[in-house]
Amino acid sequence: MTNGTEQQRMHWKAQAAAMDASDALASFREKFYFPKHGDGSALYFCGNSLGLQPKTVEIYVQEELDDWRDYGVEGHFLSRRPWYDYHQWFAEPLAEIVGAKPHEVVPMNTLTVNLHLMLASFYMPTPERHKILIVSKEFPSDRYAVETHLRFRGYDPDEAMVEVGPSSGEFASTDDVLNTIRELGSSLAMVIISGVHFYNGSRADMETITRAAHEVGALAGYDLAHAIGNIELKLHDWDVDFAVWCTYKYLNSGPGSVGGVFVHEQYAQTSTLNRLAGWWGNEESTRFELAQKFRPTFGTAGWQLSNAQVLPLAAMRASLEVFMEAGMERIFHKRDNLTGFLEQVVLEVIGKHEWISIITPPEKHQRGAQLSIRFTRNGKEIYNDLLGLGCIVDWRSPDVIRVSPAPLYNSFTDVAEFGCLFSDVLTKYQ
Ligand SMILES: *Cc1c(COP(=O)(O)O)cnc(C)c1O
Repeated sequence: MTNGTEQQRMHWKAQAAAMDASDALASFREKFYFPKHGDGSALYFCGNSLGLQPKTVEIYVQEELDDWRDYGVEGHFLSRRPWYDYHQWFAEPLAEIVGAKPHEVVPMNTLTVNLHLMLASFYMPTPERHKILIVSKEFPSDRYAVETHLRFRGYDPDEAMVEVGPSSGEFASTDDVLNTIRELGSSLAMVIISGVHFYNGSRADMETITRAAHEVGALAGYDLAHAIGNIELKLHDWDVDFAVWCTYKYLNSGPGSVGGVFVHEQYAQTSTLNRLAGWWGNEESTRFELAQKFRPTFGTAGWQLSNAQVLPLAAMRASLEVFMEAGMERIFHKRDNLTGFLEQVVLEVIGKHEWISIITPPEKHQRGAQLSIRFTRNGKEIYNDLLGLGCIVDWRSPDVIRVSPAPLYNSFTDVAEFGCLFSDVLTKYQ
């Protein structure tokens, strides 16, 4: 077979039809709105960047608007889902998604803000132990946060921020991270790493990294932006110290929606950690007494600063209900099949084009629902052509197109159609 022949296309479509027919989550697609393209819908592969809108979001948000209209401040207690303890509903589903106990998680703020808050609590430098390890080519926001936080605390990031580069290839591997942790030993205060790397879509082995950090007396914190709702997480059992995330990527909670935090239960009542506190983190029984002395509530909820952001949380609630209905096991199962099929199709399209390659690891347990395709030439033009054809993928400078089929709403037929469009576009750049 040569690239994109009619025969190859028919084969992809037949494979896709068979897999769609046996897909336990096939009907979930109907629960989402797809962006428009011409008179129809776009092909959407950007759930790793901004998840699609569940159709129930408008109902949930509208109900809060109605209750605000009808009750004013009384809505804190009288609305259908009282705002006073609105955040509490999220503990169970978030705990399930990140592998935690309900009191270890809370939705609040946004990812980068939460990273600063966690640094305020968990970065406890001493003259000997004050280094923070990150990986090279990390998402800029995380880097900026660590760099500026170090400076804020009186350290020179050039000295105190250690970036692990790759010993071979282009991205630091788990082994590279482990080796650096051991080298840094007692000078290492903390490791901060993305659970799934935004650029190449590879997973970090969080369990092993956490153990290695603890062995040298350091802490381990993770950015789960690309991991939450995408890969299996067992934060509690892995003994992770803290983690932060956003919810607008795989969790489909809407642009700029509320992020979240995990703090391990071992810190639930600790009085030795610093906190930047606010009234919502105070014990619920005395919160409205507005006492002058801060008494943090048990668990991660004690890190809350402000009262719950009900409107974006209403969108998140609608979305998390879809996740709970689908069940994480079924989501992960479909993720592997869908990503595997995308890999097959992309490899067949690439064929002998040596200037195109997949830089995401081929092993299922080392990736999630994203493949990053690298182009040594014409990448941006190919991306623009795909967009023009109504195929929404994303471009990451300098040379990658990221394609992410989301198990909740992408079908195998979507992937087959992507293969057809991709091979059409490539004929221009042979
Ligand atoms: C998407 C993403 C962010 C986004 O941070 P916000 O504070 O939510 O804007 C941060 N870090 C990583 C690794 C990301 O992928």
